[in-house]
Order: sequence, then C-alpha cells, then structure tokens
Amino acid sequence: MPASSAPIGFFRAEEVSALPRPTPERPLRVLLSACLVGIPCGVDGTAYGEYPHVLLLSRLPNVQATRFCPEESVFGTPRSMPDIHGGNGFDVLDGKVRVLTDKGDDWTAGFVSAAYEMLRIAQAASIDLAVVQNMSAACGTQVISEGCRFDTPRRFQRGPGVSTALLLRNGFRVVNALDLRTLDLLLQHLDPSHVLDPTLVNYDERAWYQENFGRR
Ligand code: SF4
Repeated sequence: MPASSAPIGFFRAEEVSALPRPTPERPLRVLLSACLVGIPCGVDGTAYGEYPHVLLLSRLPNVQATRFCPEESVFGTPRSMPDIHGGNGFDVLDGKVRVLTDKGDDWTAGFVSAAYEMLRIAQAASIDLAVVQNMSAACGTQVISEGCRFDTPRRFQRGPGVSTALLLRNGFRVVNALDLRTLDLLLQHLDPSHVLDPTLVNYDERAWYQENFGRR
C-alpha cells in the first residue's frame, strides 16, 4: 500500500453546525458527482445505484446543486475502467503516477484535464461544498483502488481520486457520498424537519475501513 505525504482533509460531521443556515435566496451551493443523482454516467452506463441522502439534498429549496462527471466529460460513456497505479490523485496531479484503464491505455492527461474542468466549475459556481462518489479514480475520497480493481486480490489505498484531490488542494470542502452520518446532519441543518437516523455512520467508521486503515 503506497503512502502519500499529501494532506487529506474532508468535511466532518462536527463542522455542519458551523455552516450558515442557507435560505432559498442564499442557498448552499453544492457540486455533486453526477452519478449520485441518477445520471447514468458510470463506466458501464449506469449511475452505480441510489444515493437517497444526496438526492434529497439536491432537491431542497435552499440548495443550489451543480452536477458534473469528470470522466464522462473527457472519455464519454460507456468507457473503460480507469484506476490509479502506484499512488493517489495527489500523486497524479504531481506527475508521479499514472491512470491506466483495465485495457492498459494511459488516461493520465485526460484525468488531469477533467480535474481542472471540475475545479473551474466549482470556482465558477462558488461552491460551499462538494459531495462526491466513493472509490472512483476521479471522484474518490478516502479510499481508492491501488492498481486495476479487476486484479485479484483487489488492493486499496488511502487517498482521493484526481478531481477530488484538486478540489481539496484548492481549499474546497469535500464530503464522501458514503459519509451518511455527516449527510444526515447536513440535511437536518438545511431542513429542521428532517429526522436524524442514529444508526448511520461515516465511511471511516465502518468496520471494513477500520480493519484496513485503522481509526482516524
Ligand atoms: S464517480 Fe465521478 S467520474 Fe465516476 S461516474 Fe460518478 S461523476 Fe463520473
């Protein structure tokens, strides 16, 4: 499991209460991985399942949602399966490691270009927060595949995908779509009638994460 010295910072549940209370006139501006709200932009032409918390968030009157799929913007849909080999998204941005598809094609340049387009969109929309998909070589957050995810055994590494790394490096707050406790708190912050589910946990509170990467 390669280590990266790059800083990794994510928006935490504890920070939700510090956000201003958005109104329809001054909404919370959120950038979403497009697949999280049902856009079939995944490599296989699907949306990778349903993300009810993100969908609810995107539909609130005091939220202004912008959706973007970095991979589709460059490579179209459907497409090959890309993964980062030998490091994470920070390392790709620094030119140290490459993004290769499962067929061996080098997509590094396209991934960097897509990351800068996502950053441009985030800056143009003056986003307060990005909510991004888990495990993607572009949008991934705390954990991504190390090398091709179809290898056996599949290997994992800490660190974000390329687009998320660039957002983090530019100071944007990022939430993993599987940080359900944080998203639940965020929903209640935006809509006080939302009832919290005390059983929800964040991604790094799951047993799988802690077995593989320890506790934060
Ligand atoms: S995770 Fe990101 S790159 Fe992958 S399909 Fe979703 S929006 Fe596109």
